[in-house]
Amino acid sequence: MNLYPWLDPLWDRTPFPYKTWTQEGKEHGIRYLRVGRAYGKQPIFSVYLYLFEDTMIDTGCPGLGKEIWQWTQQEKIKKPKVLLTHHHEDHSGNAAYLQKEGWEIWSGSKTKRILAQPTAIKFYQHMVWGKYHPCSTKVLSKNILIGNFEAKIIPVPGHCLDQIAFYLPERGWLFSADAFVHEKVKYFRGDEDFKQSLDTLEKLCQLDFDVLLCAHGPRWKNGKKSLEKKLNWFREIEERTQELHHKGLSLGEITQKIFPRSSRFLSYFTGGDISSKNIINSILYGSKERPQIEKILRSEEC
Ligand SMILES: [Zn+2]
Repeated sequence: MNLYPWLDPLWDRTPFPYKTWTQEGKEHGIRYLRVGRAYGKQPIFSVYLYLFEDTMIDTGCPGLGKEIWQWTQQEKIKKPKVLLTHHHEDHSGNAAYLQKEGWEIWSGSKTKRILAQPTAIKFYQHMVWGKYHPCSTKVLSKNILIGNFEAKIIPVPGHCLDQIAFYLPERGWLFSADAFVHEKVKYFRGDEDFKQSLDTLEKLCQLDFDVLLCAHGPRWKNGKKSLEKKLNWFREIEERTQELHHKGLSLGEITQKIFPRSSRFLSYFTGGDISSKNIINSILYGSKERPQIEKILRSEEC
């Protein structure tokens, strides 16, 4: 039974003693701001926002709206248009704040429907990122300009149902949201879908690009090679999982064989929401649902 929707209002009122953390930089003319919530010197998880000319990709985790606003003003970009890749709080977290500042916020239609209302999140999400405030986004159609370059909008489900990427063929850039994350991903959220993630990687590997603008760590060159490595890694773990499953090994035993050094702490801390076992589970049985999100996307309203 999922208790987190009942506990969510309690965590929402809890004053977590975090400090905001930022780090800025610029490569290939793309400015970036890395943000996170820190309980010591370093953030538990950080996420990148990218700013190219008048366009910003994603908005980071909640509570950093002021810092983002100051950063863009210092970069002499008054009101960038914001493109959201998906609804997760570390990407949409400051959209409502920036909208109040008069910025235009754009997203895919599924993300729009999810962000229109509050959704319950788990304890660790409250602690690490915080909860997004609902906002009303404009819906992206087929292509949009990022700066002066045409960007193709590519659905990239797997990590979640509403995720999109932005591909700039003229520059050879791919803003991949959370479709990449790492060459050898070891952890999945409970609702990540392995089969969809694999299809997404195969689709992205067909594109011609070199700069991979992942939201959790860009690859400024050889980005496509990094993505191909992840695709091969996924094919390898899928094959090994099926092999061990046919030999009769349990979910836990397969996880132990394929990810012998995976962090138990991460699994305990997130109540099992982020774990290596989730990858194996998704390969064998599909993803677990996020009931609220599924319900919103199933509803005919909006
Ligand atoms: Zn995400």
